[in-house]
Amino acid sequence: MAHGLITLPAFADRKDGVRHFFGTRHRPAGPTSDTASVTQGTPGDPAAGAPVAVVSVKQVHGTDALVLDRPVKVGETLAGGWDALITNRPRVLLTVRTADCVPVLVHDPMSKVVAAVHAGWRGAIAGVLPKTLSILRRRFGSNPLRMQIGIGPSVGPCCYEVDEPVLERLRAGFPDWRNVVREVGGRKAMLDLQELLWRQAASAGVPEEQIRTVRVCTVCHPALFYSYRREGTVRGTMVSGIMRIRR
Ligand SMILES: [Zn+2]
Repeated sequence: MAHGLITLPAFADRKDGVRHFFGTRHRPAGPTSDTASVTQGTPGDPAAGAPVAVVSVKQVHGTDALVLDRPVKVGETLAGGWDALITNRPRVLLTVRTADCVPVLVHDPMSKVVAAVHAGWRGAIAGVLPKTLSILRRRFGSNPLRMQIGIGPSVGPCCYEVDEPVLERLRAGFPDWRNVVREVGGRKAMLDLQELLWRQAASAGVPEEQIRTVRVCTVCHPALFYSYRREGTVRGTMVSGIMRIRR
């Protein structure tokens, strides 16, 4: 970890023409409000990967993706709610905000497209990640065999107890559900959201060695992360992002 940001160099790096990060409670000081906006990127050397625009949208625990395959203007407002952002434009930083939910970053170096996904249990079970990968395939011609996926810090299986209503949805929406829960009695179970997303990406055809997970629990590490579960209220959110550097 450098300067409060977590990166997965094996997932994407400057040599791949991509910059990415999973935020902590220390950095970045990103958009804290729920308003959708395109804001000015931090000035700096374009070669070092400074964004010209930072995209942040209202997240609604759904599965819809906002596809930005057009020039993005600083100051424009994006009316609507989305839990996935996709772009093939360089220097447009896509951001998602999480506090226990899972941030997932996607990169396809061949079709030169990136995506940022926000996945809580609702969105994950409803398929926000496979749906996003399918948009990459259909609209940008991405091949899952070339995709790279980074699954960020979130509530871990150590701390994520769920009850019957969640388990019911899980069993209905995810055939492989037995592999992502550990039953603890009283019709409750510990859910491993990162594992669920990992399996969805693998089922979509992404090679296992190209799906990497930051196996750190946001609830267990108060010095690093905000956690809705631990704090019982939204004290803040972590911002994660991905951007293509090159044209
Ligand atoms: Zn934990």
